Formats: sequence, structure tokens, C-alpha cells
Amino acid sequence: MKRLILILGDQLDLKGTALRNFDLNNDEVIMIESMQEAQYVWTHKAKIALFLSAMRHFAKSLKDLNYPLTYIQSSPLPIVAALKEKIVKEQIKHLICIEPGEWRLKQQIEELSRELSITLEMREDDHFYCTHQEFVKWVDGKKELRLEYFCRLMRKTHHILIDAEGNPEGGQWNFDQDNRKPYSKKGPGIIDEPVLFEPDSITQEVITFVNATYSEHPGLLDDFRWPVTRTQALEALDYFVEYRLRNFGVFQDAMWTDTPFGWHSILSSSLNLKLLNPREVIGAVLLAWKKYDLDLSTVEGFIRQILGWREFVRGMYYLDMPQMAQDNYYDHQRPLPKWYWTGQTNMACMQDAIGQTLKYGYAHHIQRLMVTGNFALLAEILPSAVCDWYLAIYVDAIEWVELPNTAGMALFANGGRFTSKPYIASGAYIKRMSNYCGSCKYKPEVRFGESACPVTTLYWNFLIKHREQFEASPRTRLMTANLKRISDEDQNSIQKHSQYVLSHLDEL
Ligand SMILES: Cc1cc2nc3c(=O)[nH]c(=O)nc-3n(C[C@H](O)[C@H](O)[C@H](O)COP(=O)(O)OP(=O)(O)OC[C@H]3O[C@@H](n4cnc5c(N)ncnc54)[C@H](O)[C@@H]3O)c2cc1C
Ligand code: SF4
Repeated sequence: MKRLILILGDQLDLKGTALRNFDLNNDEVIMIESMQEAQYVWTHKAKIALFLSAMRHFAKSLKDLNYPLTYIQSSPLPIVAALKEKIVKEQIKHLICIEPGEWRLKQQIEELSRELSITLEMREDDHFYCTHQEFVKWVDGKKELRLEYFCRLMRKTHHILIDAEGNPEGGQWNFDQDNRKPYSKKGPGIIDEPVLFEPDSITQEVITFVNATYSEHPGLLDDFRWPVTRTQALEALDYFVEYRLRNFGVFQDAMWTDTPFGWHSILSSSLNLKLLNPREVIGAVLLAWKKYDLDLSTVEGFIRQILGWREFVRGMYYLDMPQMAQDNYYDHQRPLPKWYWTGQTNMACMQDAIGQTLKYGYAHHIQRLMVTGNFALLAEILPSAVCDWYLAIYVDAIEWVELPNTAGMALFANGGRFTSKPYIASGAYIKRMSNYCGSCKYKPEVRFGESACPVTTLYWNFLIKHREQFEASPRTRLMTANLKRISDEDQNSIQKHSQYVLSHLDEL
């Protein structure tokens, strides 16, 4: 009996679990380009182009290997409706797929199998170290869910950066204090550029199609140079570990105008599309550590992102969905300022972070967390509007990784389920970590009045408003202690100016 194997746009691995035990004489693969996937959030052109190009390259590899394949191009139907048509038409009784990275799609496929009374084999995605069962076991009985302890467990379980005696390499688990420095006041100096890939004929065709079909969508395609095949992704990985990993850790949090990638790996889209497996990324980093005599701090800092954060947020997503998408701890309701889609604001930090996002579909972690995310929290924006923006605008955005980072980490929308405090900062932090403030209309140290930095005004306003919450926790008490140094009169002025700022967000 024929089995149908569905491969989604973020499951592009020939060795993935979907194609295991494939019967070339009997089974068939189906891949579906649904136009609705590009439209349910107002998706950046580069994200659409990346998915379409990578899918078409993958389809070509399947054909070259003689896999029977139905490839549906530009379907107006949702994925599951197009899938249903095929199943009904050919009376298929057995559907195989890998668990989707989006709750919505997972539910829809399960519903479809019930509706059509077919066998559904939803296989585990083996592009992660931690299974759902292992994560649930780790969570069980814990009062606090913290990345640090999860990361230690992952390292011990998989013997990564663990010495012969079972202790962490270098005698400590975490090298955060050696990492996260700003660039020198003179600037970042010479940074080895990441490897970029000229669009081939398939990508060029996709770019033409996306520009014509989604012309109103945000973002540009002029600088589209993302890896779209496994070969390119492997090349990007090799290049990163050889030239750029050495300074990853120390400048992980640094920001500078016109420095869109810093020393970051730019590997998230390849990892999330499954062009790369995290095991080979970590393997390459461990080899490079010895080969190029790299600092342990940079190696640990990088591995923590992949073995720690990436696995942790995925575990949290499947644990807390569908609630996670609805959480709104502070009951924030304001609409997203329009300039999130254009970058046209006087705030230099936002201009730079959003400007490069529109250009490449990329911003690094601190820009996402402490610039656009921090502002969205302080400006009391409706979490679902912020999450839709992040899902739409970054080439690496798939809900399992985007939502926990945005709702959980940046917006504290789940009330600190896995973070010990809201990640908020004033303009002083942005000034310390970047050169943005030097060219800004606003002044980071001014708390109210015409030249006041909106980030600073809203930061103090947030602390005044949530003083009790911040005072209740030892992790945040110091922040309200600083508030005590501001006179009552100035606190009133901050609150008054905040009201003005909050009611004129589009004009900042
Ligand atoms: C509000 C917000 C939204 C985010 N949305 C996404 C998203 O949609 N997709 C996504 O892949 N990452 C997301 N991140 C995490 C992180 O910002 C990106 O993974 C990173 O910027 C990608 O760039 P890079 O490959 O150069 O990463 P590097 O800085 O080089 O890090 C190496 C790798 O570690 C992993 N990683 C690092 N931080 C995280 C994290 N917090 N969670 C999960 N994986 C991590 C990524 O796979 C990344 O490629 C988000 C972070 C925030 C604060
Ligand atoms: S002054 Fe404020 S708004 Fe301007 S760049 Fe600095 S932090 Fe951003």
C-alpha cells in the first residue's frame, strides 16, 4: 500500500526521519508551497524567498535521487487543504511526516488524519538533542525552569565540554563574565565578513517571483545571499568556525551601526530549515577549539546557544502551547508602532536594528532582545502583535523558536515562567553596548522632556508602575533601589512624559 511522505519547508534533510524506510517502488513524497504560509503574517520577502528557494533546491535533490515526488508550486490553498486533495484523490491510507515546528500545523495534520480515517505516522524530529519526553522529565517537580541547569544537564548527558572526571571543562559551567563586551570606542575594527552566496538560477527565479507576487510585503531582496542548500550551509559553517568563532563570545552582545552581523554565526536559518544538524555544528566548533586554539569562553558561549537555549525554548514551546501564544501577563494592548515595518523613526537604535532587518531579514540576539524587544515591552505593545512581527520579519523565524523567545523572554508575557526577571533596560545600556546614541536625536541619560530618550523614559515609567513586583524579587530589587535616587517630582515628570510618549508612539 502506498504511503505518502509530507516534507515541510523547514524539514529539508535527506537523512531526516521522514525518509527513513522509504520504499522507492511504493511510497511518494509530497512538498507543498502554500501562498497562505507567506500571508498569515505579513512575511518579509527574504523569508519567503529563502523557504521557496531552499524547498526547490531540495526537491531537485530528491528528483536527482529518483524519489517519486509531487511538488505543488504556489498553491492558493493552505498546506493541509492541498494535502487533503491529494490524499482523497489517490485514496491514500497512510501519511508520514515529521512533527511540524508549528503547533497550528501539527493540530491540523492530526485533525485531517482523524477526519479521513487514515494512519498518521508523525515522526520525531531528530534535529534536536532533547526529546519532548526528556524535557518533560526534566521539568517535572521543578519550581523554577532555568536555562542554566538545563544546559548543564545537556552537557553531561551528551558529554560536551565535560572533562574526564565529569566536570565542566575549565572548571566552570559558564563564562558569561568573559563574554559580552562592547566594541572599542573606536569601533569594531576589521571583522571577517560571513560567507555569502550569490543567487543561482533557481534562487533568481524565486526572487523575481517574490518581488512580483509579494511586492507589498516588507523587506528587500537586493542583498539576498542566504545559504539555500546543504552544501552551502556546510560551507558557511566551516567558514564560521575557521574565521569568526574566535571573537563570537567576547562581542556577542556588542552593537555598532552598519555592522549587521558582527561576529555572529548567521547559521540560524540553516539550522532551522534543517540544512544543518546541531550535532555537526557543535562537532565542528569542538574541533575548531583545538585546531585553532580558541578560548574556551567563546566555545562555551557558542555551544550554550545551541545546546542550551535552542533546545530549551523548543522544550518550552511544546510544553506550554497553545497557552504560550495567548499569554499577556501585563495585559498590554497597544498596537505595534508603524515604524517597526519601515525603520522610519528618529530613534537611532531602532533605525539600525530595523533597517538591517528589512535589508537582510536578520538582526542578532541583542538587537532582537534589548532593542526592538525591550522597547515593545516598555511601550506596552500587545504581545501577539509583537510576536507576529518577529515571525514575519526574520528569515530564521519558525514558531517553536520565535514564540518562546519573543513572548517568554523579550516580553515577559508568561509572567517569568522561564526567566527570572523581565529583560528591561534604559538607554544607558544601549549607549554602553553600541554607538547608536551618538547619532541620535534623543539623549540616553535624559529621563523626561523633549530630548529625553524614549527608551529611558519608558524604562523608569515601567519601574515606577511595577515597583512592587520588582521590589519583591532579590534579582530586581536593585533596579528599584536606583529609582529611590530619583526625586518624587522627577518621577512625576517621568510619568507625565511617558503618557505623552505612549500616546505618540508612531511619531517617535
Ligand atoms: C525576541 C527574539 C526573537 C527571536 N526569534 C528567533 C527566531 O525566530 N528564530 C531563531 O532561530 N532564533 C530566534 N531568536 C534567537 C536569536 O536571536 C537568533 O537565533 C540569532 O540571533 C540568530 O543569529 P545567528 O545564527 O547569527 O546566531 P548566533 O548568535 O551565532 O548563535 C548561534 C546559534 O545559537 C542558536 N541560538 C542563539 N540564541 C538562541 C535563542 N535565544 N533561542 C534559540 N536559539 C538560539 C541559533 O540557532 C543560532 O544560530 C530570537 C531572539 C529574540 C530575543
Ligand atoms: S538615545 Fe535612546 S533612542 Fe537614541 S539611540 Fe540611544 S537608546 Fe536609542
